[in-house]
Amino acid sequence: MKINYQKSEVFGIGITDEELEGAANIFNCDFVVWPMKYLGLPINKSKPKKKNFEEMVCKIEKKLASWQNSQLSYGGRMVMINSCLSSIPLYTMGVFALPESVCKKIDSIRSQFFWEGIGKKKKYHMISWQALSAPKQMGGMGFMDVRAMNQALLGKWIYNIERGQEGTCYTVMRNKYNLSKGVLQADMNKGSYFWKGLNKSKMWVRLGCGFEVGAGTKTSFWHDVWDGDTPLKTRFRELFEGCRNNNLAIAETVKMVQENTLFRRSLRVGDLDNWKDLSAIIRRLEGGDGSDQIIWLINKKGFSSKSIYDMIVFRGVIDVDSMIIWKCGLPMKVKVFTWLMLKDRIQVGDQLRRMNWRGDPHCKLCGLDETVDHLIFECGLARMLWVFVVENLEWPLHALNRRSFMEMMGNLRDNRKKLISIQVLGAIACTLWLTRNEHIFRNKICTNAFQVVHKLIAFLTQWLQLVPARLKEETSRCFDLLRARLRQLVQQDVHPASDVTS
Ligand SMILES: [Zn+2]
Repeated sequence: MKINYQKSEVFGIGITDEELEGAANIFNCDFVVWPMKYLGLPINKSKPKKKNFEEMVCKIEKKLASWQNSQLSYGGRMVMINSCLSSIPLYTMGVFALPESVCKKIDSIRSQFFWEGIGKKKKYHMISWQALSAPKQMGGMGFMDVRAMNQALLGKWIYNIERGQEGTCYTVMRNKYNLSKGVLQADMNKGSYFWKGLNKSKMWVRLGCGFEVGAGTKTSFWHDVWDGDTPLKTRFRELFEGCRNNNLAIAETVKMVQENTLFRRSLRVGDLDNWKDLSAIIRRLEGGDGSDQIIWLINKKGFSSKSIYDMIVFRGVIDVDSMIIWKCGLPMKVKVFTWLMLKDRIQVGDQLRRMNWRGDPHCKLCGLDETVDHLIFECGLARMLWVFVVENLEWPLHALNRRSFMEMMGNLRDNRKKLISIQVLGAIACTLWLTRNEHIFRNKICTNAFQVVHKLIAFLTQWLQLVPARLKEETSRCFDLLRARLRQLVQQDVHPASDVTS
């Protein structure tokens, strides 16, 4: 292989600029000034600064600029954020722990795009980015949490080093940081920026992994999971606290047991039973040899960055019903709108007033306070739609507000009924919202209740093609019922509810 000097560059560490230039002259090639870029990543002599990540941030901004002319709905923007914007920093995040200021910048670009689109006009951000970044099954919108994803991707390095992954990069790291005791026991507070960046992820890998013990040189006796499914420090809390050194590997601890130097004090009467159990565990270790093997306990399919990510963003409670909205057959923009509506975060008068908006916060139809519950459930027009739907579909409860609707959903055992209910809620909310906006922005006043019911049924029919195949028949039957009922009412010229504006 021949070196192409015109395409090569020389860079130096610990030498003067003159010496570097001299070296470059010898080879007749260019020299590099720090920071440089290697495989698209910023490499610096010292800790990378915020400005070293500017190129990556610019890439995100450029991507946005290329959508300049597209008029995207909330749903469209959500898809664009998930499929394009969030993936741009992934490559860099797989190597470096991003500085907090860079994470904030990425969040702010995505948040601004979600709420305001591309235009220059300032718009209200109705809910915090943090809440939007919660996973969908925990009631969020599932936007990527940059910090968590960063730690999850870095966690892969730790797992791979520990698992004995081969490769020059891993060999260099094992030798440089002397990892004979295993990477989880290593001190990551000293070393390169990359190395220190792995420190936070170490905690998450440790939480999710266990060990098959060989010679016991890499596994922490007290902190790692290697017998049962909890670390011994949790099972034998008192013994752990009485230990002379509780940061040692299994082999070292066992040696201390043999030498009778494990504890700082003599065991109390209450400790004896625990000590008997712990001794039995230690006896089972006898004769173990070979390397300790890391195993991933969180996911049966084995280790993945995604499973660390899921562990980091898990917020304690899974809300099954909050997933229904993302699974039903509504267009994405209506799903997002319905999600925001259920969170009380659409721009109704009451919400805008809280944001110091100066306009009239009252309902245009009846003059009462325009809250989400009022607009979607309580106002005359809304009540008429709900009565029409609930009576004709024989629903178990008249939805009075968001809470009672969600309660009704919670009481439904059949998942298919839940999906149809949320489909209808989305269509009713969308119909009412458009009717309200036509009134406010185009001064089109709805005088005929049939028009609104027609609009609702048109939406339901149009969106039927989005309904999952296994539900289509049942959903279609429900909507046929509504359509037939409306036709009947029109023929009899009876309005669905007598007084719309009450
Ligand atoms: Zn009203």
